[in-house]
Amino acid sequence: MNKASGKRAADLLHLRGQGLSKGDPVALPLVSSSMFHLPGDPDGAAAYGRIDNPTWEALEHSLSVIEGAPCVAFPSGMAAISAALFTTLKAGQTLLIPSDGYYVTRLLSDRFLSQFGVQVIERPTIGFTDGGFEGIDVVFMESPSNPTLDLCDIESIAAAVRKAGGVTIVDNTTMTPFGQRPLDLGVDIVVASDTKAPGGHSDVLMGHVATRNDALHEAVLDWRKMSGSIPSPHAAWLLHRGLETLEVRFDRMCQSAQIIAEALSNHPAVSLLRYPGLVHDPSYELAKQQMSQFGFLIGLTLNTKDVAEAFISGCQYLRPATSFGGLHSSAERRARWGDDVADGFVRLSVGCEPVDELLTDFTSSLNGLTCD
Ligand SMILES: *Cc1c(COP(=O)(O)O)cnc(C)c1O
Repeated sequence: MNKASGKRAADLLHLRGQGLSKGDPVALPLVSSSMFHLPGDPDGAAAYGRIDNPTWEALEHSLSVIEGAPCVAFPSGMAAISAALFTTLKAGQTLLIPSDGYYVTRLLSDRFLSQFGVQVIERPTIGFTDGGFEGIDVVFMESPSNPTLDLCDIESIAAAVRKAGGVTIVDNTTMTPFGQRPLDLGVDIVVASDTKAPGGHSDVLMGHVATRNDALHEAVLDWRKMSGSIPSPHAAWLLHRGLETLEVRFDRMCQSAQIIAEALSNHPAVSLLRYPGLVHDPSYELAKQQMSQFGFLIGLTLNTKDVAEAFISGCQYLRPATSFGGLHSSAERRARWGDDVADGFVRLSVGCEPVDELLTDFTSSLNGLTCD
């Protein structure tokens, strides 16, 4: 970990403590109130629960420390993505999205934004620059893409889009600010699903938007107030708790993923293994340049659907589940949702279990497959 992210991780744990008075609780209180005591003129004091909540504010303060930018919290990753897209796009404009990214972003664009007169174009993450960015108003990137783990060059794309007069958004869900910092690479807006590693315990859905552009930040805040897409105080409180251990969990998950990727990539039952931290992976050079860790997701291709299902169900320490980034390792065949991947492609999310246990478990399940 570099010095700056170490400082952010340490600051995060003492944000609240430094403002306490004698007798105050050290842990963040959960405030659940729709009304606030408001005699006389409203002068900026908390007024109403769709607009103000002290638990969100504490969460957003924590998020802003790790993002290095003001943040707005949302009740899910898709709510954050919707806020970013609906506040940056107007009728008659053009949006570029990855054809191989999170599929609900594509559905939202195709089914809703296009009805408001936004032209939506798609490109694969590899080759995202082909055709250039002239005439494109908003460019939405996802790197590494979920689930195939291809990368695009965030810094050079951000510069090219800015030159062409457009706005850039990066979905940074798979990396978190501890693994990749798109705002530092020149991007205008970061969106993320905090349902994944930031929550980390598979018990809450949340998301956020981060930007250093004041006008965009205000627009996203307005969108939340007026659309009513607000997080519940309880969800915000759970995410605040999750964030306090994100750095230590993320670090272990990435280190374990590296060890597991190296060990499984040579296994005879594995036809292809994608992990940006493997020296021979097509993503490796760019990953070294723009990511500070290589992530906790591994793309594993086994021969057939049945072999992939047998691998997953043969592991004791692997929950067969959609979503990723939790303490518990999990995996699924993405073809079951219609992703454009092989039938035997498994997205493996490495959790916080001690790595030796995971390695023994995964290897013995794979060994069982080759013996058949
Ligand atoms: C899960 C996910 C989302 C959506 O997040 P929700 O919290 O489920 O709404 C968006 N982008 C990526 C890359 C994701 O993995």
